[in-house]
Amino acid sequence: NYQIVLNRRPVGEPTPEDFRMVEQPMPTPGPDEVLLKVLYLSIDPYMRGRMSDAESYATPVPLNGVMVGGTVARVEVSNHPNFQAGDLVLSMSGWQSYAVAHGSHLTKLGNTLPRPSYALGLLGMPGITAYMGLLDIGQPKAGETVVVASASGAVGSMVGQIAKLQGCRVVGIAGGDKKCRYVTEELGFDVCLDHRAPDFAQQLAQACPDGIDVYFENVGGAVFDAVMPLLNPKARIPVCGLISQYNATSLPGGPDRLSLLARTILVKRIRMQGFIVFDDYWHRYGEFFQQMSQWVAEGKVKLLEDCVEGLENAPQALIGLLRGDNFGKVVVQVARD
Ligand code: NDP
Repeated sequence: NYQIVLNRRPVGEPTPEDFRMVEQPMPTPGPDEVLLKVLYLSIDPYMRGRMSDAESYATPVPLNGVMVGGTVARVEVSNHPNFQAGDLVLSMSGWQSYAVAHGSHLTKLGNTLPRPSYALGLLGMPGITAYMGLLDIGQPKAGETVVVASASGAVGSMVGQIAKLQGCRVVGIAGGDKKCRYVTEELGFDVCLDHRAPDFAQQLAQACPDGIDVYFENVGGAVFDAVMPLLNPKARIPVCGLISQYNATSLPGGPDRLSLLARTILVKRIRMQGFIVFDDYWHRYGEFFQQMSQWVAEGKVKLLEDCVEGLENAPQALIGLLRGDNFGKVVVQVARD
């Protein structure tokens, strides 16, 4: 059984030396437990936070501990009455090829998914994050302007597609021409802008002639600076992530913008709300799953997968995700069958 463990806590951008691959004896399931063979491992930005011991909403991975992660796995041996060998399940088995889990911690996937890995993307954690963050907190209305960054990524691409389904004008922001073209031509956003362009702030102002009603916050940093002056009165900001800051070792430079933000929130009566999908919305997974499965079946929502082969390539996949090297939802194919 191969595992990838946290070798040391990164300072700034993670490096391959922060991870270590180890071989362990095959685990044996106890009462009510199952032995799982991991097929797909999800790679997500929150994993950078778990590598750090700074105070957060979740406990960090201990040094030499197996890296955390959502997986799609197959039951090999079952000591739990609800599972049989061969069942596909969603689990939090982490970065390893086999794992033992208690049956009560698993979700049976059945064989209704178009692809098993969709349980980690479109119909899984990033999907419900986009759906609930946009609809419950953002509350977009037809005709309003919705802006979202990391627009070709797992969460952002779904936010924009769902906003289009609500009749909104959708402005995406992504890194580079290839991603921007995909976002407009394949996902149907109205516009997509490259946040690395020197005149990005001006381009954003031109792309939002009626201001911004919903800004779905995925990135923070320079993108938020450009968004702030364009916010309309009563705008809503679901604060989902701040990926531009995850590798930061100090606060951003330049003038302190906190009082400008507070003033903007006050005079424009803006509602800005953070959320953690596992804590705030997981109980509504069924509702999300029903609606999203229907949209997927009707071809109204899609998600590009960036599939990486082999557990040994998981560290580089996470390092790349934080830099924007990924194109779509990152999953690692840990085993083929
Ligand atoms: P993505 O698939 O969108 O990948 C991350 C993307 O972030 C990169 O591809 C890159 O896109 C973009 N990015 C990286 N650095 C910067 C930067 N400095 N400025 C602008 N964009 C940058 O990841 P996810 O969809 O999985 O996650 C998106 C966000 O949602 C993250 O912030 C994540 O933490 C958050 N999240 C929050 C959850 C919650 O419960 N609150 C749950 C799930 C995700 P590009 O090349 O286009 O710039």
